[in-house]
Amino acid sequence: MITRFAPSPTGPLHLGHAYSAILAHDMARAVGGTFLLRIEDIDQTRARPAWEVQIYDDLAWLGLTWDGPVLRQSDRMGVYDNVIDGLWQRGHLYVCTCTRRDIQAALSAPQEGCNVGPDGLIYPGTCKAQRRLRREYWQQSESGMPARDAVLRFDLDTLSSDLIMFENNGLNVEVTRQDLQRDVGDFVIGRKESGTSYHLSVVIDDAVQGVTDVVRGADLAEATQIHAALQALLGLPTPRYHHHDLIRDAAGKRLAKRDDAKAIATFRAEGASPADIRRMVGLIP
Ligand code: GLU
Repeated sequence: MITRFAPSPTGPLHLGHAYSAILAHDMARAVGGTFLLRIEDIDQTRARPAWEVQIYDDLAWLGLTWDGPVLRQSDRMGVYDNVIDGLWQRGHLYVCTCTRRDIQAALSAPQEGCNVGPDGLIYPGTCKAQRRLRREYWQQSESGMPARDAVLRFDLDTLSSDLIMFENNGLNVEVTRQDLQRDVGDFVIGRKESGTSYHLSVVIDDAVQGVTDVVRGADLAEATQIHAALQALLGLPTPRYHHHDLIRDAAGKRLAKRDDAKAIATFRAEGASPADIRRMVGLIP
């Protein structure tokens, strides 16, 4: 068994991260397996080396040890680019210049909470119908200026398999191409700022690291159908997925970096012990 913890160094770890890390670590250790660490820092506008250092420090303090070298995604941008090139050449991608506002305007019933899937607004395919833009436009427009807001989207019509299967929390899940078209839409594979997207890099790296079991929060459960579709397309193995409940604050709201969820570092500074953290996330009574 190979599990992993894959934090983004865009802020301090909070209780939700500690829960994911402890579960993934303990699951591997319980069977003599391997626990890996991956730093997901493709978004260089938000990632900070200081947060990465803090992650190592917090994990060590929690008593979690990881095996082998840490895999840092910003060191692997060339690998993701090559995969994107291959997908482009095989006709799976198209350039999309729609803004959020364009997409909202094109959706037939843009109501609050509707038309939103695990990759954001369900794209109505406006740019796909045109299919006029060359790949270079993604990075550079014809005038030589960077093309604003251009992304590369995956054309779900070109998905090689009609049925995507994966295991989530011990249950077999089956998703058809039509399900993906309805619930996800043509999702983003490449972004101008980061080159790759979260979905593509996570799938490539889980395969490269030989991850057999992905342990992460339920907020990513819906994204798993995207990951399984990419695995099928790229001929990569699909790990077992385990999505745990989200840790909520006293008001029942899920913890998030953007809301300044209380950092593990703050609990530490206030004198909490690693056992206190395990207690707070419900792992010990
Ligand atoms: N980097 C993601 C995050 O910090 C987690 C990705 C994953 O576990 O698949 O939310």
